[in-house]
Amino acid sequence: MSKKTIEFKTESKRLLELMIHSIYTNKEIFLRELISNASDAIDKYHLLSLTNENLEKRNDYEIHLEVDKKHRKLKISDNGIGMNYDELIENIGTIAKSGTLEFLKNMKEKEIKDDDLIGQFGVGFYSAFMVSSKVEVITKSALGDKAYKWTSKGEEGFTIEETTKEKVGTDIILTIRKNEGEEEYDEFLEEYKIRSLVKKYSDYVKYPITMSHESSVPLKDDEGKEIEGKYETKIENETINSMTPIWKKNRNEVTEEELNEFYKTQYYDYNNPSFSIWTNVEGALTYKSIVFIPEKAPHNLYSEKYEKGLQLYAKGVFVMDKCKELVPDYLRFIKGLVVSPDLNLNISREILQQNRQLTLIQKNLEKKILNELEKTLKNDRDKYLKFWKEFGVNIKYGVYDNFGMNKEALQDLLLFETVNEDQMVTLKEYKEKMPKEQKEIYYGSAHSKEAMKISPQMDVVKKKGFDVLVLTDEVDEFMISMLNEYDKIKFKSINQGDLDILDDEEKTVIKDLETKNKSLLEKLKEVLNDRVSDVKLSTRLTDSPVCLVSGDGLSFEMEKVMNQLPGEKNLKAEKILEINPKHELFQAIDNLYQTNDESIADYAEILYNQALLIEGLEIKDPVGFSNKMVKVLIKAAKKESN
Ligand code: ADP
Repeated sequence: MSKKTIEFKTESKRLLELMIHSIYTNKEIFLRELISNASDAIDKYHLLSLTNENLEKRNDYEIHLEVDKKHRKLKISDNGIGMNYDELIENIGTIAKSGTLEFLKNMKEKEIKDDDLIGQFGVGFYSAFMVSSKVEVITKSALGDKAYKWTSKGEEGFTIEETTKEKVGTDIILTIRKNEGEEEYDEFLEEYKIRSLVKKYSDYVKYPITMSHESSVPLKDDEGKEIEGKYETKIENETINSMTPIWKKNRNEVTEEELNEFYKTQYYDYNNPSFSIWTNVEGALTYKSIVFIPEKAPHNLYSEKYEKGLQLYAKGVFVMDKCKELVPDYLRFIKGLVVSPDLNLNISREILQQNRQLTLIQKNLEKKILNELEKTLKNDRDKYLKFWKEFGVNIKYGVYDNFGMNKEALQDLLLFETVNEDQMVTLKEYKEKMPKEQKEIYYGSAHSKEAMKISPQMDVVKKKGFDVLVLTDEVDEFMISMLNEYDKIKFKSINQGDLDILDDEEKTVIKDLETKNKSLLEKLKEVLNDRVSDVKLSTRLTDSPVCLVSGDGLSFEMEKVMNQLPGEKNLKAEKILEINPKHELFQAIDNLYQTNDESIADYAEILYNQALLIEGLEIKDPVGFSNKMVKVLIKAAKKESN
């Protein structure tokens, strides 16, 4: 067969361009990619040799690295499955997955640099061109007898020709680029650098990664005795990777640093994990797991693209990367792995989904994680606060999710800002500080604690000295309504329904006032018509003239959130206008009413719109509102100047 020149397909060409010019900042990962390909190729050989009689059963699997500094070559050899002619063209000359190019171009436009994606998109091999001016692949398939050489400078295309190779497997020979300006390539020809990259990225590859090492050994005579002063140079093969997966070791054999490195390289994080939780269960169901909680939430945690899951190994063999059955939705941020000899290696997706063992493991892990969080909340508040800041909203979601199935387990992990306290508090702490006469746990929604403090609904609660939970997240009110009560104490919104806060004497006063002012209240209600469901004298106001509250069902906050959901339109919370009977304004209006002044209608409008304003709700007719204000102001000013 003569040498053949083949052009890259357009897509591959463009991908190569992108690869060479800057998508990835972290050029060094090319080695991880090539080693992982080599390891896959050995896996394939091994699997096939179990069933194919023609393949020799072997135990000399190896990935060998060689540096030739003088010629700027770095060679990665494996004795895996190899490739035949068609495979070489098909696998190396084209991009496996369609859409990859689109995706990467998009990333480039958005200036997202994400090294993790290299492997995911089956472009690992191409990463070699980030550091190489030329790449040669010499390969011999275990299922054929011919060897081929593929050569490319990464521009237009590649050549392919027949060659000779003694053993089955693949050699990848990189010609390392020369340094260009800021770009350093020389280091990839340094043995120490290559070693450290293997340690960093490929330590747990299960086959030995070896490197030749020149050493001087004493020369021996015929009888095997060392000859003094004489040495010979020997090439020794040294295994660089430790191969023992971290989970095979005991917790106390693994240093903190080792564990952190493992986490960072396995789960592509720049930060150390904030929690690492080991589990070792033996019995009816045997498994080991290491679960990590990241320090920072991954940037895509709340996007649809985010895939939750733990790595799953059965009998020490990797089964899948993201086993989502192991992770409840609300803990979607955890990373880690589960190894169980009890799981069948050939489990398919569907069987996985209904696997009872997986469910059991999931339940156990969940419990373990929550225990750890509880312990931290108790013993290391600062650490817990950091966790809460990143992931608290997930825990809240967990309370709400699944019809509140987990609320008991999660309620003591919740933290709240409150009006009175400088530090966040748990429900238990809130309860312990409740004065005797306080019957309910008060909460309110606001943009901030400051806004909450000055809201009219706070009037009476403030006066009584009761503390109020400040809710600021969208999920908060849904979560509270799911909780319903804590330790037999009901939650009560200061913005909703009747606030049963007054003592009997105070209640009688209001009752009397209501009877006395019945027709005025009805008049106001008539003016506001269907915009409010009721106009009432308030039990919660002391200093402010009016406020708007919702009925006991949907709150204003929930209304906002729900109406953002696709398909949900026009859900309306019930609006109740509350007027402060002790306020001067009310007395003034009452006077007007008694004298049959027709401006009472304007006052009703103004009061209502004022309440909307305070509540942060939309005023439907701002011009009308403003005009009415002007009218009233002029009248007042005239009176003043008379
Ligand atoms: P991926 O490994 O994600 O499939 P790559 O671009 O890294 O994508 O490799 C493409 C294909 O080339 C591999 O799927 C494999 O079939 C083949 N290949 C790469 N390296 C080797 C190797 N060392 N031995 C055998 N086949 C290889």
